[in-house]
Amino acid sequence: MDFTVSEKMQTIITMIDEFVDRELIPLESEFLSGKSFSEMLPALKEKRKIVKQMELWAPNHPKEYGGMGLNLMEHALVSESLGRCPLGHYVFGCQAPDAGNIEILDLYGTDEQKEKYLRPLVAGKIRSCFSMTEVDLPGSNPVMMDTTAVKDGDDYVINGQKWYTSSSDGAAFAIVMAITNPEAHPYLQTSMIIVPTDTPGFNQVRNIPVMGEAGDDYFGHGEILYQSCRVPRKNLLGPEGHAFVIAQERLGPGRIHHCMRWIGICNRVFDLMCIRARDRIIAPGKTLSTKQIIQAWIGECAAEIQAARMMVLHAAWQIETVGAKMARSEISMIKFFVANVMQKVIDRALQVHGGLGMTDDTIIAFLYRHERGARIYDGADEVHKISVARRILKSYEGKQVK
Ligand SMILES: Cc1cc2nc3c(=O)[nH]c(=O)nc-3n(C[C@H](O)[C@H](O)[C@H](O)COP(=O)(O)OP(=O)(O)OC[C@H]3O[C@@H](n4cnc5c(N)ncnc54)[C@H](O)[C@@H]3O)c2cc1C
Repeated sequence: MDFTVSEKMQTIITMIDEFVDRELIPLESEFLSGKSFSEMLPALKEKRKIVKQMELWAPNHPKEYGGMGLNLMEHALVSESLGRCPLGHYVFGCQAPDAGNIEILDLYGTDEQKEKYLRPLVAGKIRSCFSMTEVDLPGSNPVMMDTTAVKDGDDYVINGQKWYTSSSDGAAFAIVMAITNPEAHPYLQTSMIIVPTDTPGFNQVRNIPVMGEAGDDYFGHGEILYQSCRVPRKNLLGPEGHAFVIAQERLGPGRIHHCMRWIGICNRVFDLMCIRARDRIIAPGKTLSTKQIIQAWIGECAAEIQAARMMVLHAAWQIETVGAKMARSEISMIKFFVANVMQKVIDRALQVHGGLGMTDDTIIAFLYRHERGARIYDGADEVHKISVARRILKSYEGKQVK
């Protein structure tokens, strides 16, 4: 595996790093001191304009729809750079859940769906959300689903209750997972359907309070009640009954984006931790950095971030060379490994900052709250560990080792 970063990518990453430092990190104090995401939108819109002028908009999205068309390995580096600020991906037009929705619309959308939903989504004119998880049933086993989409003439009529439909507040449409074929095999019962959020019966109940914050707009996680929500059958995305097949397509590259974003977060809090250790006088003439336990944390964190980064780049390379299906174990491994490294690095950075780490005077407490979910969404740690172990154990069937 060649780790050389091309000249083109080095230039792009330098431009992004400088932009994040100069234009985005200074905005953080605003949302840390209580501004809602929607109150920040005018400023973010201005930043998006600059990104478009710099021709860095939508780095991972297809050129024909206005993106840069970077490949997975290239976008992994971009995602790391943008991950240093919680506003990075949004301002560059490659934020989840839109990024995943764009991928599946590109792969499975009809021409009409692409013009109506994909093109304005890549352009950043609208936002979207992904509505799979239900309140009363386990998201870890989504074949257990209650939401139904029943055919009625030329329409589907959707009923069900979802939550954690991230960024539903202000989104133009949701991609909803609902049972359309209850008589089929459990993995072939569910379909993806595009539901414009202004459809009667699409009811946003609330933004769920998460770790003390309900958030709003892009920063919200919606609870949605679908009540006789009627959409035309042409809003079916991909073949009927194929939601789980499509969802798998969405998760492979998506996990690379997330994991590299988490590495970016690690890099940011690692910098803050080292600078605090260097500058904090803990006894006359002694800084925190002179204490061996802090040195050990710094050494361990550096090694763990490096290991995590190598694993993600390797998984991205596997996806590009042998495909996401063959790289399933690598994708599962990075999902739980990197999420845990990130949690540990954030926790240690917070600890090194002492009382200051608990405040919102630095970004660390925000990341501590908001990134805990990484060990739960896109498959909880335990689910990924089990699936890796199952594959490994299968490879030992009938095998003798001396
Ligand atoms: C910040 C955040 C954003 C999210 N965004 C979205 C979104 O945009 N769209 C969407 O549809 N959903 C979203 N989700 C929901 C997410 O996908 C689910 O929370 C996740 O799939 C877990 O499902 P659950 O919450 O129902 O937990 P459950 O399935 O009830 O699992 C609870 C816990 O049980 C354990 N567990 C589960 N299965 C096993 C097993 N087989 N063996 C051992 N232990 C197990 C795990 O520790 C797990 O955390 C989001 C969640 C979070 C936290």
